[in-house]
This record gives sequence, C-alpha cells and structure tokens, in this order.
Amino acid sequence: MSAEILYMVVPCYNEQEVLRETARQLREKYVSLIERGMISPLSRVVFVNDGSKDRTWQIISELHSEAPEFFSGIDLAHNAGHQNAVLAGLMTVKDICDMAITMDADLQDDINAIDEMVQKYYEGNQVVYGVRSARKTDTAFKRFTAEGFYKFMKVMGADVVYNHADFRLMSKRVLKELEGFREVNLFLRGLVPLIGFQSCSVYYERHERFAGESKYPLKKMLSFAVNGITSFSTKPLKLITALGFIMSVMSVLAFIWAFVAKFAGFSELGWSSLICSIWLIGGLQLFCLGIIGEYVGKIYAEVKQRPRYIIADFINDAGTDKTEE
Ligand code: UDP
Ligand code: MG
Repeated sequence: MSAEILYMVVPCYNEQEVLRETARQLREKYVSLIERGMISPLSRVVFVNDGSKDRTWQIISELHSEAPEFFSGIDLAHNAGHQNAVLAGLMTVKDICDMAITMDADLQDDINAIDEMVQKYYEGNQVVYGVRSARKTDTAFKRFTAEGFYKFMKVMGADVVYNHADFRLMSKRVLKELEGFREVNLFLRGLVPLIGFQSCSVYYERHERFAGESKYPLKKMLSFAVNGITSFSTKPLKLITALGFIMSVMSVLAFIWAFVAKFAGFSELGWSSLICSIWLIGGLQLFCLGIIGEYVGKIYAEVKQRPRYIIADFINDAGTDKTEE
C-alpha cells in the first residue's frame, strides 16, 4: 500500500489570532503522518481565506512562502460563508488529492483524530465523520442550542449525523460526486450523507476555541438551521397543509356554535371569541406564508445559478516535495 495524498481544507474568516498556531500543529501532525508512511509527502494543508478583513491572507501567504511543502492557500474574492469556503477548497483540490479532510481553523476539532480518520480511509471508508463525544467546554447555552439543532433537524426531516459538524474526511471519489450537487443553498452536513458510499465515524472531544471569537453568533446559527431544514425537507409544507385542514374542521364547529348561540339569544357575547379568532387566523396565515416564502426564496436563489464562490488566487506548490531530496 503506497501512501496517498491528503489535503486538509481549512476555511478561515478573520482568524489572524489562531492561524499560526493551527499551522504549527497541523505541520507537526503532517510530519508525523509522513514519517509513519500514512500519507504521501505531496500532501498539503490548504487555507481558504473567506474574504477576511484582517491579516489572515497575509499570514497564509507567509506560511506558504516559508513552507510551500506543507501550506497552500486559496483567496476568495469576497466573504462567501463557511459552507461555500469549504466547498471552494474541496473543488480546488479534488483532482490533486486522494482524500481531503475539512476542519475549522480555530482548533476546536481535535487534530489527533486525523490519524484515525486516515486509518479508516485505508480500511475502505469513503467518508469518515468526525463526531463530538463531549461538549464540556462549550457554554451551557451553546450546548443547548447546538444539540437542539440536531434534534430539530431530525424531526423536520433533514437527516444529519448527530453531533457531527464539518470535520470530515472524504475520498476523491466522493468529491467527484459532490461536484454534481449544484445547489446554491449549500448545507454539506445534509449533502454528504446523501451521496452515500461506505462511511463511519470517529469520536473526539471538542475543545475550546484557541483564540478569537465565534463567527457563528445565535443569529447565524438560526439562519443556518432554517437553511438546513428548508434545503432538505418539504416537511414544513406538509405541516402547513395539515394545520390548514385542522383549522377548516374547527371553523365548521365554530360555525355551528355561532348558529346555536344566535338562536339561543346570547350572540352579543361573541365579541371576545371573534377577536381571538381574527388574531389566531391572521397569525397562522402570516406564519404559513412565511414558511412558503422561505421556499420561494430558495427557488429564487437556485434558478439564478450564480457561482457559489469566486477564487481570486490559488497558491500551491503541488509538485514540490522537499522531504524527498
Ligand atoms: N468561517 C468562514 N466564513 C464565515 C464564517 C466562518 O470561513 O463567514 C470559518 C471560521 O474561520 C472557522 C469556521 O468557519 O474556521 C467555523 O467558524 P466558527 O469557529 O466561528 O464557528 P463555531 O465553531 O463557533 O460554530
Ligand atoms: Mg469554532
């Protein structure tokens, strides 16, 4: 078995505080993996600069010139968002690697899980999911919202691997298939399980962010969840239909009740129930329209077929292998 080429894809948005430390740790890991013959010396770490406003790209360029045999960089023309940045990286490296691992830049994912991921790849798995076994270091609020997210996703019909974020290994084969998914509203956690192939999970403990702050505040998390659900399931639309049906049945009952009330002679008492119904129906209608609007918005974004990211620069010395000389 000859060692195969591993490319790490690391999306970076304003990560100047952590980038050097991440690079140092990844380099150490690469050296040890190469020494043990687990990966080819042609393997690289690709940092994808997602339109950062700080010195992130400068640091990536420096890392590349200091050690081109380890580090490459992709500079996106604007902030395309985490998922698109990951995709930009994967699509750029899919022809020059045998396997790719995506990982956040903030060292929250355990670098030591990489060994096991690569091992599982050699055992025949095309996808290896990194799954968090503990959330001790997250705040109670983050833990609650994040775990609620996975449960809610499942109830709403978007099947995702529980407690798996975007730390995963994919083979070249899977990357080729991923290219065929053209959607603009990208939600990789839902997409990758759809592709299929033999897969497995490795477990790791999630650490605290090494430095800097989360780029996923609650607002972004919520929009991520709504995006995930509406991109993968039409269950909310079915719920609306069911709700509409129940409301119709109830309105028949209300009709009968109104008639009885009228002939029994206490119809003027009806004002409060009337006003309640108006509010209730109005609210429900707005709510349902909102959900339908979510889907219409999706269709709007998809039919435009806009590019999902724009690459301004790709620095990579794929051919050089200084360790062989
Ligand atoms: N990120 C990105 N583009 C964005 C937001 C975030 O590339 O618009 C990157 C960020 O640099 C990090 C990863 O996505 O490497 C995850 O972000 P973060 O750690 O802030 O999210 P959290 O772990 O708090 O959910
Ligand atoms: Mg993070």
